[in-house]
Amino acid sequence: MNDVVVEMNVDTTVYKTLLESTKAIPWKIDWETLRFTYIGPQIESLLGWSPHSWVGIDDWVERMHPDDRDRVVNFCVEQSKAGVDHEADYRALKADGSYVWIRDVVHVVRNGAGEVEALIGFMFDISERKQNEEKLLRLQRELEELSYQDGLTGIANRRLLDSVLETEWASARRSEQPLSFIMLDIDCFKQYNDHYGHLAGDDCLRRIAQILVSSIVRPRDLLARFGGEEFVLVLPETSLEAARQVAERCQAAIGDAAIPHRASDVSHLVTVSMGVATADPTDGGGQASLIEKADRLLYRAKQNGRDRIVAE
Ligand code: GH3
Ligand code: MG
Ligand code: MG
Repeated sequence: MNDVVVEMNVDTTVYKTLLESTKAIPWKIDWETLRFTYIGPQIESLLGWSPHSWVGIDDWVERMHPDDRDRVVNFCVEQSKAGVDHEADYRALKADGSYVWIRDVVHVVRNGAGEVEALIGFMFDISERKQNEEKLLRLQRELEELSYQDGLTGIANRRLLDSVLETEWASARRSEQPLSFIMLDIDCFKQYNDHYGHLAGDDCLRRIAQILVSSIVRPRDLLARFGGEEFVLVLPETSLEAARQVAERCQAAIGDAAIPHRASDVSHLVTVSMGVATADPTDGGGQASLIEKADRLLYRAKQNGRDRIVAE
């Protein structure tokens, strides 16, 4: 009999040592009184609160980030009542006022009659994992942004244009508002590259993009690089007359920038030609018809001598 007792004591010491030397923090709550009957001393090095300060379930609830509290407490109480093992992630309050991400893994202990008797669990410090998760999310968002961005100029690319145009087309249909579209092409840009070099050509494209960005006043208007030295503007809820004014503003801003172009056929400065079209989406015809129309008008502007706007 004595032998058995000695053996049990050894086992208890072994278990206690093991439990209290792991990084996971063990705890036990009596279900009837909702009081801690045990909490691993490691809790103090993780959160700064002494083991004795963990008296009842309220201490656990109060030392949780207010934004996590309702979700976590409701979930854990529900699962415990149902007698289901569960786990929850939340931010635990440290004695110094900062927070640590914790994963609490909870086992429900039942008595012989099958009634819930106690909850036994482990708290794990998962702050590093959470930081990695947040970093991954940030990278994912960045990647999404990049895939809609033109690499050279940083403005929207063709992909974003297509998706915005589709949305605006549907919106214009519903609201029966005009949707305008400007197609802009730099004049004699091949000569610019030939005269100043391709890298200077790239710089010129970036400058034109910046000038156009600065010419946009309505937040819903979209500027995109259509390809090469062509840019487009999508102008929702904008009449043909208003769109022509936007085009004139862009032309004036490019004129003000006075970018030299010695090899141009039309001026000694960089100039652009534009086609301005307005669709009434209730007339039928898809969004492609709007792009085609603006492209035809741009061609006419080129034919008529460049450095001009044709709006129709
Ligand atoms: P037009 O007045 O009729 O528009 O004549 P253009 O010379 O501007 O038109 P064209 O289509 O003959 O030539 C466009 C030039 O734009 C040719 C091409 O090398 C240049 N280009 C297209 N994309 C880029 C780019 O990303 N960087 C640079 N530097 N040049 C580009
Ligand atoms: Mg072109
Ligand atoms: Mg051109």
